[in-house]
Amino acid sequence: MLILTCPCCGIAAEETELHPGGEAHLARIGPEGDDAAFESYLFARKNVKGVHFERWRHAYGCGKWFLAARCTATLQVFGTYSAQTTQPLADIIDAIRAARPDWTPDWTTP
Ligand SMILES: [Zn+2]
Repeated sequence: MLILTCPCCGIAAEETELHPGGEAHLARIGPEGDDAAFESYLFARKNVKGVHFERWRHAYGCGKWFLAARCTATLQVFGTYSAQTTQPLADIIDAIRAARPDWTPDWTTP
C-alpha cells in the first residue's frame, strides 16, 4: 500500500485518498517551441522502474497538489514536497542517494 504524507496539511494518506497527476517537473513548452516539442510535452511521459517524481492531489483531504519522490518498483517513498518547487529538495535527493547509491538524476540544473 502506498502511503504519502501531504506536505500541505501533514496527513499521511493512503493511495485511495489521493489522485495521481502524472509526472512531475515537466518543462513547459512556450510559443517559441516547435510542434514536435509541444507534442512531446503533451504526450510523452517517462515509464520508470525505480525512482520517479510524481504529482499527487490530496483529493479526500485538503484538496491541494503536491509532489512525491518514490520508487515505482518497491513503493518506497523518499519524500513529498510542495508543488511550487521546480526541482526536488536537497533532503529528498539525499534520501534517494542513501537508498540508491547508483541513482543519478535525469535532469540538468539550469
Ligand atoms: Zn493535504
